[in-house]
Amino acid sequence: MRTCEEYSIQKEFDVSTDQRTEAPAAYEQFIGGRWVQAADGGTTEVVNPATGDVIARVPRSGEADVDLAVRAADEARIEWRRHTPGERSTLLLQLADRLEENLVELARLESLNTGKPLSKADGEITYCVDNLRFFAGAARQLEGRSAGEYLRGFTSLLRREPVGVVGQIVPWNYPLMMAAWKVAPALAAGNTVVLKPAEQTPLTLLKFVSLCEGILPAGVLNVITGDGENVGAALARHPRVRMIAVTGGIETGRAVAHLAADTVKRVHLELGGNAPVVVLDDADVEAAAKGIVAAAYENSGQCCIAGPRVLATDAVYGRLLEALPARVEAVRVGDPFADAELDMGPVISRTQQERVMGFLERAEGTSADVLVGGDTLDRPGFFVAPTLIAGVKQGDEIVQREVFGPVLTVQRCADDAEAISMANDSEYGLGASVWTGSVAKAHRAMRDLEYGMVWVNTHLPNTSEMPHGGFKQSGYGKDLSIYSLDDYTQLKLGIINLEE
Ligand code: NAD
Repeated sequence: MRTCEEYSIQKEFDVSTDQRTEAPAAYEQFIGGRWVQAADGGTTEVVNPATGDVIARVPRSGEADVDLAVRAADEARIEWRRHTPGERSTLLLQLADRLEENLVELARLESLNTGKPLSKADGEITYCVDNLRFFAGAARQLEGRSAGEYLRGFTSLLRREPVGVVGQIVPWNYPLMMAAWKVAPALAAGNTVVLKPAEQTPLTLLKFVSLCEGILPAGVLNVITGDGENVGAALARHPRVRMIAVTGGIETGRAVAHLAADTVKRVHLELGGNAPVVVLDDADVEAAAKGIVAAAYENSGQCCIAGPRVLATDAVYGRLLEALPARVEAVRVGDPFADAELDMGPVISRTQQERVMGFLERAEGTSADVLVGGDTLDRPGFFVAPTLIAGVKQGDEIVQREVFGPVLTVQRCADDAEAISMANDSEYGLGASVWTGSVAKAHRAMRDLEYGMVWVNTHLPNTSEMPHGGFKQSGYGKDLSIYSLDDYTQLKLGIINLEE
């Protein structure tokens, strides 16, 4: 593991000076191969959540900027789709190399902008490099049915073509990684992109697009900063955007799907999760407790596949509740630039801190029993203590809604069947895990859990080769894997008359 010093020239890292000398473009957005301000000159502040300090200013764009970016992407579209898969693959591989060469700088910037531990940010950027390399290879492997004479005298064939200009909207919890999961398949498949980072976390994306300069032709990848209402919605509405892909909350997904309907755009939604962690009668309780704590407090709980709600059967509930508190108390929290050994940092913003505290305050006076944490930390920045709650009921708000903070609830279930049924009683359907000693029970749980991803005796791992995506209101469409290349392409039928 690298030390804090290796990530930062000065420990008290001043991003404003650093950005001006090393990457002045970070203050502008990238449209059509040029760094530009917002059309109306508006800007917005970017804050370090570990301290509350303002660390940068970026353009606050609107409809006119979106139009400019979409037109740039549209102009670049024809030439980009004419690149062969091999040519696009070569450029994506070069981009992956650039990312790798700048890994320390990007990890530092991600950590500064999100408050996440440096080692975690480092791991995410490393994964982004792998994502790019995977899609560089996968783009050359697209397969389909063979062309053939399904009608006498005619050959039928299929072409797999890019969709066109793709609008992509990403959240603040894994800013660069969520973008890599979207940009890499879209570009690999021959689309051009207008990408909007979350308003809180634009810095690594601006750095990333600066690394694309000299590799990608102008207009192929545009990054535009601003809020959801003005930039995200304008992208979803724009008639020249042929597909809109969002990673975000369910409400945002619904709003975007509504807007996209007017121009019948393809919609790709990776939305919220509230993953159940089902601990069955025969589980290894110590292993489950360890896995639960790792999954619940991942990224301060701000992870769509974190495991914030545990469902434990009567047979294991008591032992699990004995094992968990000490493990939760041992979670190391702090400022990532002060300690390289951290498990988690702050939540992303004052708003998010208040949102999480709202859930905890409303749970007071119910049967909820706070065993660990339950409050903010008395220090600068937006910290919430790792929190463990027992005694909650299935209908409680804190169980049914995505808190998206370091809050873990534990519920008691009569038996295995009730645990699975309570796990499924949710509008979300992204990830779930089951802990058991039986292969047969594991397979049955995997069959019965209504979630897009089910882990057995683990929670969280994923890989570039396998799809990431949800069921139910967690959305549709897949990130990662060859399946996301399907989402970013469309099939065209050609029929050729064989008669002269
Ligand atoms: P959010 O929905 O508030 O914002 C996500 C993005 O959407 C931001 O860029 C935002 O500016 C934009 N946006 C907001 N309102 C919009 C609108 N009306 N029109 C267009 N764009 C709009 O979500 P967040 O708070 O940034 O992120 C947290 C959410 O993202 C959680 O629900 C989390 O579970 C989800 N998420 C899902 C996945 C997944 O793979 N399924 C991964 C990470 C995060």
